[in-house]
Amino acid sequence: MKLSLHEQQCAGIDIVCDGEQTRQHFVTTFIEHLNGVDFENRETVRIRDRYDASVPRVIDAVTRPNSVFVEDAKFLRSQTDRPIKWALPGPMTMVDTLYDAHYKSREKLAWEFAKILNQEAKELEEAGVDIIQFDEPAFNVFFDDVNEWGVAALERAVEGLKCETAVHICYGYGIKANTEWKKTLGNEWRQYESIFPMLQRSNIDIISLECHNSRVPLELIELLRGKKIMVGAIDVANHTVETADEVANTLRNVLKYVDADKLYPCTNCGMATLPREVARAKLKALSDGAAIVRNECT
Ligand code: ZN
Repeated sequence: MKLSLHEQQCAGIDIVCDGEQTRQHFVTTFIEHLNGVDFENRETVRIRDRYDASVPRVIDAVTRPNSVFVEDAKFLRSQTDRPIKWALPGPMTMVDTLYDAHYKSREKLAWEFAKILNQEAKELEEAGVDIIQFDEPAFNVFFDDVNEWGVAALERAVEGLKCETAVHICYGYGIKANTEWKKTLGNEWRQYESIFPMLQRSNIDIISLECHNSRVPLELIELLRGKKIMVGAIDVANHTVETADEVANTLRNVLKYVDADKLYPCTNCGMATLPREVARAKLKALSDGAAIVRNECT
């Protein structure tokens, strides 16, 4: 984590994180620390409506006996003066990465997870985390559920927090199942259109989106006007390092729909699956590209 932090800072990243060094998987690492989930007897289920995976089973009421990431967050806090962001899985994505043999209701289980996430988030805030981000790729798949209970569960997870909150909705890490899925989505990816209006009305502060190399029509971002936007200006699904100018172009295009003071240049998703040198170079391109646009704006 120290090394990753150092590399982020050397690359000129203003808001830093653990570099995904404290989790093996963005959902299951958190779930491993909960009671009520059986990791031994797994079940194969279809996740994100996309691919089959062997997942743990919920067999009893879920509870969080101890903090999950709080000690890690304290350590990160002690290592830097820059604002820090911490990522947790979102309630709907947690539900979609498990087999539920207990609640028999995605909504009920999401609600229980939301309460647990809220406990964890409050402790992370106390530890000095500036932005708590919930990763909700499932929002891009189950539109009706998002509007019926997904956003409500997310709002339950952020209840009472004073730090900033973010929701990250992407088209996935650069793994094969996701890149194959993207090929089936056609020329225009309009998934965000179904969920942005509700997110715009929610009390989440920041929405984190995939933009660079994606087929998301950028004008959809207008639906979020008023929110802060983390704009994905780096593709995590290939090893080609973007130029600073490419990053700047993506940011300029998005500036039509986001006020400059609300635009946070970011990567499309996490870079955990990339070789270290590639990830480092992409971070540098991100900050160099942001610097170009920042100079134009001031
Ligand atoms: Zn992502």
